[in-house]
Amino acid sequence: MLKGKTALVTGSTSGIGLGLAKALAAQGANIVMNGFGDIEGPKAEIAAFGVSVSYHGADMSKPAEIEAMVRHAESHFGAVDILVNNAGIQHVARIEDFPPERWDAILAINLSSAFHASRFVLPGMRSRNWGRILNLASVHGLVASAEKSAYVAAKHGLVGLTKVTALENATTGVTCNAICPGWVLTPLVQKQVDAKAALLGISNAEATALLLGEKEPSLQFTTPDELGALAVFLCSAAGNNVRGVAWNMDGGWAAQ
Ligand code: NAD
Repeated sequence: MLKGKTALVTGSTSGIGLGLAKALAAQGANIVMNGFGDIEGPKAEIAAFGVSVSYHGADMSKPAEIEAMVRHAESHFGAVDILVNNAGIQHVARIEDFPPERWDAILAINLSSAFHASRFVLPGMRSRNWGRILNLASVHGLVASAEKSAYVAAKHGLVGLTKVTALENATTGVTCNAICPGWVLTPLVQKQVDAKAALLGISNAEATALLLGEKEPSLQFTTPDELGALAVFLCSAAGNNVRGVAWNMDGGWAAQ
């Protein structure tokens, strides 16, 4: 379905980004990977779908590096047809204890990076009259939790940016939507499970059950594969008139 298209997925060396990159590759899209840590393992997982994979190590807190990543993708594959703004970080603390430099980093990586990447890819998408921008927001783009001020502010901002991007391109073939997961068991969430286990002196399994029970009525993690299927739908022809939506896949979290 996406043969001949190129998808740039930020933060695709791990977790949800890797899952989305694999789901898009399974539909035939060539992939530009980005993110830190092990590159070769995730690259091989994506390439196993028979598509071309390129990597750019832009730090998503740095606008000049984001531009270089988009230009790399364009020169390597000719175009960026699908942009997935996925890279993200978390820090958990009350506002009065929240380190200002962590606030700045979360706003830069979880929100401003999507603005920069979008402004660099939009002219090309509009000239070809086809494009898909998927912003990996969160259920925290819709509702709040204590001790996550920067994350909640960034994700609410990302949902707002999604709506504006959708509206500014509404008469074109370029759509923009947000995906809003509840808990997904990735390294980002494992750190929160570990912190809870250490704080309460309980096992990993007990901390996991507590984490899900506090927020997610289904008591199940959403999986990167499930999110990948949603991303594929939003990139399909059937997603043509889905514009500016914030689609939660959160086990009922935001329904409460
Ligand atoms: P993760 O920690 O597994 O992956 C994050 C990815 O972002 C990694 O590839 C990492 O290298 C990359 N990254 C981090 N900082 C970067 C930077 N400065 N520049 C470039 N890349 C950088 O996390 P995840 O859980 O897969 O999260 C992915 C996205 O999904 C995030 O935006 C997160 O907020 C969102 N999300 C996650 C959950 C969850 O439960 N895991 C729920 C809702 C939303």
